[in-house]
Amino acid sequence: MSDPHVPTDACDPRAALRSIAAGLRTRLEAEGRAGLAAVAKAMPEVGETKGIGDNREYPAAPAAGSNSTVVAPPALTPEAVAATIKAELAGRAPAAARTLDLFDFGSAPEESGVSREDALARIAAEVAACDRCRELAAGRTRTVPGQGDPYTKLVFIGEGPGEEEDRQGLAFVGRAGELLTKMIEAIGLTREQVFIGNIVKCRPPNNRTPMPDEEANCMPYLSRQLEIIRPKVICALGGTAAKWLLQTHDGITRLRGRFYPYRGAQFMPTFHPAYVLRNYTPDTRKKVYEDLLKVRAAMDAAV
Ligand code: URA
Repeated sequence: MSDPHVPTDACDPRAALRSIAAGLRTRLEAEGRAGLAAVAKAMPEVGETKGIGDNREYPAAPAAGSNSTVVAPPALTPEAVAATIKAELAGRAPAAARTLDLFDFGSAPEESGVSREDALARIAAEVAACDRCRELAAGRTRTVPGQGDPYTKLVFIGEGPGEEEDRQGLAFVGRAGELLTKMIEAIGLTREQVFIGNIVKCRPPNNRTPMPDEEANCMPYLSRQLEIIRPKVICALGGTAAKWLLQTHDGITRLRGRFYPYRGAQFMPTFHPAYVLRNYTPDTRKKVYEDLLKVRAAMDAAV
């Protein structure tokens, strides 16, 4: 069932944020209270109870037979609440999130004691267990979380895995991937020096375009990956990635070739390598090369 508190499209961004925060608080309080009450009821002799999902100590549970029904809600750290709100808002109302510009890629996870490698591996494990999109989860061989340098300044984002990616569990390793490798090398980099991912992490049947609900389901993973890597430049490969991330109906031909602000990074849409393969003309190749040169210059200029 969809969450009535969460807007599914971009409206007034502040209203969207308020509404998400209210929904989240209600849900967490309800779940936390119910969980704590159950613990207190099951183990009155313990004399104290712990919060749901963490190891903090909470006030003593009411003594057996007492009339008190007061149970402390779990102590939620501001960071945990903010992270949940950010993932919800970025996933479900990305235009609102962008308008608010709340989510410039924040503090690095290693500052909170988790390396970027571990943080990305944790997301990959969640993706591997994900079944938010029934059809995609049922049809996949492997999930494709994306791979590359967690410390890079440059992230490429495609649409979704194809057949070869689904087989290997790696992004852009089929024919389009071979061309992407050449595109990356054309600007003096290697695949290992960048991060390569997709909007959706499971192969859509027959390589169809991902549905908006599949993009929304998968967005929190990409959003968290970007928060960990905090790239200076993001290059969207093709119309699906560009339109979804910029929340626009404009096509790639109109969007490509210039930068857009995106959560504190510079965002450049360009043609998808599969499109370039289908339209292998000097004009298309020149346009992609020009876009990538701008990407490289922005990357070099970024501190
Ligand atoms: N096309 C994409 O968009 N992503 C891949 O990983 C492969 C092909």
